Amino acid sequence: MKHSNVSIFVTHVGCPHLCAFCNQRTITGTAEIPHADDVRRICCQAYSQIADKSQTEIAFFGGSFTAVPKDYMLELLEAANEFIGKDKFKGIRISTRPDYINEDVLDILNKYNVTSIELGAQSLCDEVLEANERGHSENDVNNACKLIKNYGFELGLQMMVGLYKSSYERELETMRKIIALSPRTVRIYPVVVLEGTKLAQLYNNNEYKLMPFETVVDLCAEMVCKFKNAEIDVIKLGLHSSELVQNNVVAGYYHPAFSELVYSRIILTSILKYAVDNKLKMLDISICNRDHSIVTGHKRSNLNAIEKAGLKCNILSDNTLNRFEIKINGDYLDVFKITGDPGLQVIPG
Ligand code: SF4
Repeated sequence: MKHSNVSIFVTHVGCPHLCAFCNQRTITGTAEIPHADDVRRICCQAYSQIADKSQTEIAFFGGSFTAVPKDYMLELLEAANEFIGKDKFKGIRISTRPDYINEDVLDILNKYNVTSIELGAQSLCDEVLEANERGHSENDVNNACKLIKNYGFELGLQMMVGLYKSSYERELETMRKIIALSPRTVRIYPVVVLEGTKLAQLYNNNEYKLMPFETVVDLCAEMVCKFKNAEIDVIKLGLHSSELVQNNVVAGYYHPAFSELVYSRIILTSILKYAVDNKLKMLDISICNRDHSIVTGHKRSNLNAIEKAGLKCNILSDNTLNRFEIKINGDYLDVFKITGDPGLQVIPG
């Protein structure tokens, strides 16, 4: 049974910070804050719709849950907790800042059946954290992760890719440090520069230069493979599409199917590398039906890149294969194990 969330957005309420990239009201799409009745209504509705609730968490997303006024946090937790237990939902999931985690907070979360805590780490480079006015350090992330794990909560980390003063190497360094912290899950958010933020100002003044879009797709492809090989689930890749985000984008890496672009890139890299290593010119690529668009690529970009590399291929359907399981000329290909430069041009034309 797959994990699912009953999502409740807490928005910007109570967050005493204003990070350079954040326009929380735009992201959540609402300025309304939920109260206990809203939590009960949303949970009741989900309760009647989800048959097996044992892998479902009630998830408070959007703001910094443990930075909201304590009474308000308790109001939400109490309402959600009514829906946790035997034959009910599995637990509560929250997202918060690393500098709003301490033993008192964790005692409260424990009492109300919180099972998973996601921390917005964003970067594990102090210079990047400071430049983006996060108001916490790498050390805060390390300490919070240690405490969360000691209490036995499931740990999730969120990172942003391409922030002001970051670089390809700094992102890989953050990825390596995240792997060392060994969270259960990771969310990767390539930066989207939103109207009304400090990043938008820096971008408009030419002080903040973005890496090319394709570079960030490559970077994310490499990170997804490394996280998967470290048995860390990548549960989100790119900001979810909503009109409110789309209408407020100034620059950055927003794409409604960002995750597909990255998985497509992973598959292209591994196919080309396999062809080079095995000196193949003709490829019979077997995949399940669901993987067709990812293998052919956005606007057939992968097929074009394969052709440009001087290779010929047939795409064959084989529904005995699972998602991301590929066979080339009958051999299984572990697409997440093959990273790096295949020795051929991989950027789709
Ligand atoms: S901590 Fe989170 S909610 Fe608060 S300003 Fe930063 S990104 Fe926005």
